[in-house]
Amino acid sequence: MFSRIVVKVGTSTLTHPSGSLHLERLDKLARTLSDLRNGDRDVLFVTSGAIGAGSSALNFPAKPETVSGKQAAAAVGQCRLMHVYDKLFSEYGNHVAQILVTRGDLTEPRRAASLLRTLEELFRWGVIPVINENDALSQEEILSEQNIFGDNDTLSALVASLVHADLLVLLTDRDGFYDADPGTNPDAKKLDRVSEITAAMRSGAGGAGSARGTGGAITKLAAADIALEKGFPMVIAGGHDPAVLYGILRGENVGTVFSL
Ligand code: GLU
Repeated sequence: MFSRIVVKVGTSTLTHPSGSLHLERLDKLARTLSDLRNGDRDVLFVTSGAIGAGSSALNFPAKPETVSGKQAAAAVGQCRLMHVYDKLFSEYGNHVAQILVTRGDLTEPRRAASLLRTLEELFRWGVIPVINENDALSQEEILSEQNIFGDNDTLSALVASLVHADLLVLLTDRDGFYDADPGTNPDAKKLDRVSEITAAMRSGAGGAGSARGTGGAITKLAAADIALEKGFPMVIAGGHDPAVLYGILRGENVGTVFSL
């Protein structure tokens, strides 16, 4: 079971608070994803962290304020990310391939079909595609802090739907989905299983996540909406130890499962 999985990892999991890459975690992630690939699964990795990694590489104290600054930082950071991924995944005997997409590549049928053909070829070759939004060109991604669309949570769900993945995992800095913001509400409870997104869940979801990440609970719910509609399971789990993926694949009670 689970022969094709999409794993999305958020900025706050991939980077230290300073924005520099969390190499120990990236190493574990590369090892775990490589192992899953070696187990004859198609594995697709949706990465965030380009803006954070670029800002840190350039010694900026924080992410740039302007959209063009964020776009330029992403262009620097994306190289950093791929350099490290290429090195780590190849140490574990696997190849990665970078694909940067804009929303239209996933929603416009001809472009989506072209993307799918490329991805299928990469899967056939045993390569692990690494997808991020093409931040240098796409404004909707970076503007998502205000507009709540174009984030990598939604993007990963659209990708999972396109490739007919049988599982989408979002690895994040929280260990699951909570009924309220656990950062501000001590009574917030983690949900183990969700088959329907209620109005109360939406109103409890609040705004964008941490200062480093872009998505928050709202974008996680947007991804879950797609997963529930298209009929593939989605799991939100803590990414501090990427080996959590093994437990998820074994069907253990890890994080929050969104499934009908
Ligand atoms: N594409 C952004 C980046 O790589 C992150 C977007 C997100 O986390 O949703 O920096």
